[in-house]
Amino acid sequence: MTELPSVDARRLPRAPVEPWRRYVAQAPRPLPEFARYRPRPGHPDFARLDREAQALAERIAPKLEAPQRGPREGFRRTRSIATAAQSYLENRRRARAGREDLLPLYFIWTTLRPCNFRCDYCDDHRGARYPELDGHGKLSTEQGFRLLEVMRTRAPSVYFAGGEPTLRKDLPALTRRARTLDFYPIVVNTNGSLFHRLLDKPEWRGFLADVDILVVSLDALDLARLAAMWKAPHPEDVIRNLLVLRRLCRAQNVKLMVNTVLQPGLVAEARAVFDWTEDLGIGFCPVPRNVGPRIDQALLDDPEYPGFVAHLLDRKRAGAKVSGSLRMNQRLLSAAPLDCRNTLKPHVDHDGRLAWPCKASVNVEPLWLDVLAYDHLDPLWAEGTRRQDPRGFHGPGPQQCGGDCCWAQNYTTDEYAHGLTHPWSLLGAVADFLRRPA
Ligand code: SF4
Repeated sequence: MTELPSVDARRLPRAPVEPWRRYVAQAPRPLPEFARYRPRPGHPDFARLDREAQALAERIAPKLEAPQRGPREGFRRTRSIATAAQSYLENRRRARAGREDLLPLYFIWTTLRPCNFRCDYCDDHRGARYPELDGHGKLSTEQGFRLLEVMRTRAPSVYFAGGEPTLRKDLPALTRRARTLDFYPIVVNTNGSLFHRLLDKPEWRGFLADVDILVVSLDALDLARLAAMWKAPHPEDVIRNLLVLRRLCRAQNVKLMVNTVLQPGLVAEARAVFDWTEDLGIGFCPVPRNVGPRIDQALLDDPEYPGFVAHLLDRKRAGAKVSGSLRMNQRLLSAAPLDCRNTLKPHVDHDGRLAWPCKASVNVEPLWLDVLAYDHLDPLWAEGTRRQDPRGFHGPGPQQCGGDCCWAQNYTTDEYAHGLTHPWSLLGAVADFLRRPA
């Protein structure tokens, strides 16, 4: 090799540095899987977190119950799909008759109000933050079982939410009951911060075996920003637990997804989360931040937002694991005028009361109907409709809801309403949602 005369390196012309390379010098160490995602200063040391996650997964995995397979599992899914198909035909009949008291596709259960986080954007759909609300009146385990039984008379799927549902010691018992009642899919939405402690406990060893879709909130990767946004001292616990769950969920046949609230000034962080989930094969649920019953205008005005949306839709077209159909995401992320049919996804509060016809209404106070006072949903739906007909409820008028909510759940009802006259498009959307983890 030719000897170079000694030169002053500082005078050497610098090769043009690709922007992200500047970060590498300062950024945390990447994982080999990272192709789209570029670690940035302030992001976690993924090499260390992944080692810790590997050790946790190795300790927890042998203790977990195996997921249910075979005829009983087939029967559960078939029963749920049969309920959904029956309701679809009935809902088409009702829609043709001009009715909007549509039977539920799934129900959202606020299993409790307390939470170990205090997220900036937390909203009970009525402008309050769950952890700041009175938590008394939460259903007992037995009452929870009864709620699931009554809701299963018409709702094929359940969405466990909070507050923070993993703070309920009996959550594994509730998800187990949901499984025996043939709910499918069983979805749990959580901040994911406690799994490294919980999954080790005997009473939680069957939890993952009973859950079909696990949705963990992750709104950025910058730890300082997460700590400030969530008012939580150890945000990296969530990211480490996601790396643990990524290992466990595949064997447990659980679809692991990340839910990201898209916020003004944090679009680049949302993009980093999306790229990170793509590289790690985790599903992604984008949700625009809402202020009251509508999208935060500051998000739509954020100059980075249109580029992010265009990229996300391109990736969706290319097959990326973004929840919801392309059509739904196009409408959700642009806050397109919404055909909201809230009875398709009723909200049941921590005390077992169902908000009719919707929880977020601002012009008209919702009715609160006690689900435990019924044995079947049909008389509850009839009573709700008698007292507040949901026909034309969505709108700006004094006798209407006064909102244009822009949560993913609202656009699932919009998608379903479209599907009442376009069945193939709905079938495609449902198949996409139920697509099993690769
Ligand atoms: S858009 Fe209206 S009807 Fe729909 S959830 Fe919001 S407030 Fe309720």
